[in-house]
Amino acid sequence: METDIKKIRQDFPILQEKIYDKDLVYLDNAATTQKPDIVINTISEYYRKYNSNVHRGIHYLSNFSTTAYENTRETIHKFINSKYKEEIIFTKGTTESINLVAFSFGEAFVKEGDEIIVSEMEHHSNIVPWQLLAERKKCKIKVLPFDDSGELIISELENLITEKTKIIAVTQVSNVLGTVNPVKKIIEIAHSKNVSVLIDGAQGIQHTFVDVQKMDCDFYVFSAHKIYGPTGVGVLYGKKEILEKMPPYQSGGEMISKVTFEKTTFNELPYKFEAGTPNYIDVIAFEKAIHYVNDIGIHNIKKYEDKLLEYATEQILKIDGIKIIGEAKHKSSVLSFTVNDIHPADIGTILDKMGIAIRTGTHCAETAMQHFKINGTARASFAFYNTLEEIDKFIISLEKSIMMLR
Ligand code: PLP
Repeated sequence: METDIKKIRQDFPILQEKIYDKDLVYLDNAATTQKPDIVINTISEYYRKYNSNVHRGIHYLSNFSTTAYENTRETIHKFINSKYKEEIIFTKGTTESINLVAFSFGEAFVKEGDEIIVSEMEHHSNIVPWQLLAERKKCKIKVLPFDDSGELIISELENLITEKTKIIAVTQVSNVLGTVNPVKKIIEIAHSKNVSVLIDGAQGIQHTFVDVQKMDCDFYVFSAHKIYGPTGVGVLYGKKEILEKMPPYQSGGEMISKVTFEKTTFNELPYKFEAGTPNYIDVIAFEKAIHYVNDIGIHNIKKYEDKLLEYATEQILKIDGIKIIGEAKHKSSVLSFTVNDIHPADIGTILDKMGIAIRTGTHCAETAMQHFKINGTARASFAFYNTLEEIDKFIISLEKSIMMLR
């Protein structure tokens, strides 16, 4: 795969850009990934030639975009190996997918006094919707902790689950620690006690092979923009038998079967959860991103990105004063660190002037920061278009920034 990187990079126009007259080194892939030409061009081509609202028309263009929109659903269904195509629901992102489940699963299955478990390392999107549900239903949030290396303490899970536990919501990969969580084990434990599980795949889907049937999760959620697709599109996978029991999340056009002023009946899956005009052009372009990833091969991607992370970890540890935040045995593509008492934002600002884009702050994971009693980290995150040379540039520039700040 390494020999192809030069060629792969040509597919991403932004990677040819200069920042402050320097070659861009983009190491902020956990926030969002860059888009290949095929995705960008599809968006433009559809607006130019095929734009027409989906599902509503009998004319040529509407049928054309409806077919393309439904083809993406088919592609995602195969990509994550869901049992049924209608288990794939389009949303605007991971955040909306989790809010949908928290609301709708909550309405159907959660009552006063029940319990919901989230982990200590969750992104705010996988905490706050559950907190709102807990307030609404007067139920309780319990927290599965992680240890100082950044690994979930799975042995605690058995103690946390009670007969009141309704759902466990946990991330597949931590966006701040890089930890790859043992989601299959968590799901096994949860199911042995009749508890449902939502897996936040926002940082998992782009780095590793996902088979939702093998994983046996009840819900799996992710965002297109983190897997080389457009912004404003997300996926909610849910097991059909659970989704069917859940009420609609939003209401309006498309999600109905029949409307009278006396009573409305709802459409079948997946349309019951896709109220209004969907973001169909971006959904259509999203399919191209998935094909692009499939063409490279997710196993090749994983192998190469693991190598990038290993190399970056080795190199960064040679710098005096570096502390890596998140040292789990299994990690993926995320390198979070602090440097003595230097503020991460100062490092990020200087690196930026050198053309290197990293992220600094709490990464929407304040509870993980609270664990380490820190107010933020600097985070480099990798994608398959990054190179070992870029990591060398990052390390040299980081050393220079630290020298300047000391
Ligand atoms: N969950 C995790 C683990 C994330 O890293 C992110 C975004 O960084 C989200 C959820 C939210 O994703 P989005 O902002 O695309 O909805």
